[in-house]
Amino acid sequence: MTACLVCGESKWISLPDPGPRSMASDWRVVDERLARVLCAGCGLVRRDPTASTGASFYASGYGLYGHPPGDAREQARQDEYARWIAHGTGYRPRRVLDVGCGNGSLLRALRAHWPDAELMGCDPSRESIAEGFGDGVRLWTGTASNLPGDVSADLVIAVNVIEHTIDPIAFLTDLRAVLQPDGLLVIVCPDGGRPGLDLLFVDHVFSFSREHVGTLLSRAGLQRLGASQSPRSLGTFQMAIGRRRDATQKKAIPAPPRAEDVTTYLERWRQLDDRLHPRVQGSIVCFGAGEAAGLLRAYAPRVWSSVRACTVDGLPAASAKAEESPGRFGELPMIPLESVPPDETMLVGVRPADQPRVAERLAARFRRVVTWYDLVDGERV
Ligand SMILES: [Zn+2]
Repeated sequence: MTACLVCGESKWISLPDPGPRSMASDWRVVDERLARVLCAGCGLVRRDPTASTGASFYASGYGLYGHPPGDAREQARQDEYARWIAHGTGYRPRRVLDVGCGNGSLLRALRAHWPDAELMGCDPSRESIAEGFGDGVRLWTGTASNLPGDVSADLVIAVNVIEHTIDPIAFLTDLRAVLQPDGLLVIVCPDGGRPGLDLLFVDHVFSFSREHVGTLLSRAGLQRLGASQSPRSLGTFQMAIGRRRDATQKKAIPAPPRAEDVTTYLERWRQLDDRLHPRVQGSIVCFGAGEAAGLLRAYAPRVWSSVRACTVDGLPAASAKAEESPGRFGELPMIPLESVPPDETMLVGVRPADQPRVAERLAARFRRVVTWYDLVDGERV
């Protein structure tokens, strides 16, 4: 197998697959193994290259942003990303380029902070760009590797993109090439410093700790000016801010070992279906219709087969996923919370860290509220 792009070692440890199938970042269940391996030298986790999905994955049928911006839940999340980025950089850019912009909903949120800036974005998904945010924003179908020759920006951002790339150093080098000399580059991606949900998305080629991102930036001729952790409500993400420098650096920033943690974590996900099954009985309604519900569908199929419907607050509302017809989560109907009888089992299908809070609220209405955060996070929550 190939040498590690962070430390150069060629010794990889195979990690447990949580199931025979896996989930993609648009919540589709994919008929491929997760196929994670971990570098014995630096703890970098990646997908086994022989199992890689490849860039064509996003060109067509990728459902995450194949709809016009404006969905309330999506925009609230993008507003939070925009606040984090605007405050984190403390910068007033003149020209902003968002690489991997989806339908432009983040650019739309950033406009509130920088009303005078010229906004541009590109994304490999034709559906996302076709549905994208207009209003004077230049959007096109493409990736970092084929940016138009006339494009340059003093703020280049890439939010939750680098972990999908096959060659992150080439990706950063391409972004650097369109960055104006005094400009800033903002990279946001899952924080892999502790094992978490980001490991479970089949199209995440890599899981990076902060040290890994720092090393990649310096390899690509960028100096890291700062790093920060996302607001907890967004999940567990990291932001690195960089600017151009003249030299590249070869030396890797030492990263803490994590083989045991990551192995234990994926092993817990492998056992989730068997361990959660005894907690549920009869007819089940899942509270949640996002990534956590998708993870249950992909990695706890026996439990999921007893779920009759999904619900969230404030229904009726159409699901934001292109794959899902309005009012459905995959094969299941979405039903209003008020219509669920109090004696039905309510399975909490939100992110593990949010489950205790949501369960407490649901317990006021439902006799049987089932959580599973302890099964995947152990004593951590
Ligand atoms: Zn390594």
